[in-house]
Amino acid sequence: MDQVLAGQTALVTGSTSGIGLGIAKIYAEAGAKVMLNGFGKPEEIAAARAEIGAIMGVKEAPYSAADMSKPDEVRGMVAEAEKQFGKLDILVNNAGIQFVSPVQEFPTAKWDAIIAINLSSNFHAIAAALPGMLARNHGRIVNVASAHGLVASPFKTAYVAAKHGVVGLTKSVALEVAQSQVTCNAICPGFVRTPLAEAQVKPLAEKNGVSEEVALKDYLLAHQPSKRWIEVEEVARMALYLVGPGSGGVNGSALSIDGGWFAS
Ligand code: NAD
Repeated sequence: MDQVLAGQTALVTGSTSGIGLGIAKIYAEAGAKVMLNGFGKPEEIAAARAEIGAIMGVKEAPYSAADMSKPDEVRGMVAEAEKQFGKLDILVNNAGIQFVSPVQEFPTAKWDAIIAINLSSNFHAIAAALPGMLARNHGRIVNVASAHGLVASPFKTAYVAAKHGVVGLTKSVALEVAQSQVTCNAICPGFVRTPLAEAQVKPLAEKNGVSEEVALKDYLLAHQPSKRWIEVEEVARMALYLVGPGSGGVNGSALSIDGGWFAS
């Protein structure tokens, strides 16, 4: 791959799995030094660090265990990335969780966790990273929102509220940095083949008494006209475009990658 990110540094939250790991991988392949973050079994984290490290030509990629539900840890993670790398060019706010329930039964603790991890962590990370980016007059912020940042589904109140919030946060930050060489954009994927999304198929099949294949096409992907998963690599390629050469004019956008969902 062309080394379009040679000399650049990146921090990708929630990059021990799924979309975040895919973004970390493509950034490292494009020549960036990448710091990982996220939870998982020790062996899974070690495997992710070794995989990304091997691409970067080191034993293991830098890693922060910061909990995205804790503001001080989020800000500390950004400071740690700046310290280790000497600067931070690219911030990807990707960590996220899901919980599905009717609103009247939605557990308050789940609401608070989803708002904290899926929305407030983006605010804290951006607030911590922007001073350095503005001082160097260079930076790229990518927030992994969702199709649910643009449209709603029932039973996902916290997730839909948080992701709409991420799109609003993205636009507002973009306006604040519009006359600098910093950009802030959101990616709005439909259903992507990752553990977070795949975990929703079985409960849907059981609830509706159908096979997992039918649950996927007729229920989970009911609003995704392509009727297929978006693949992690497709999202990673969009995230690479947003931080690579030629994307400086894209700012405050919420880019859909959803098989036609938002158009329908
Ligand atoms: P995933 O479950 O595979 O990965 C989530 C990552 O976030 C993991 O690395 C996990 O350890 C990390 N994480 C969770 N809670 C954390 C916390 N408190 N602190 C630090 N890290 C934490 O999920 P994914 O599907 O790859 O989702 C990544 C992002 O993409 C999320 O923001 C999600 O909302 C969004 N998204 C996913 C889909 C989809 O269909 N998979 C669609 C649209 C948007």
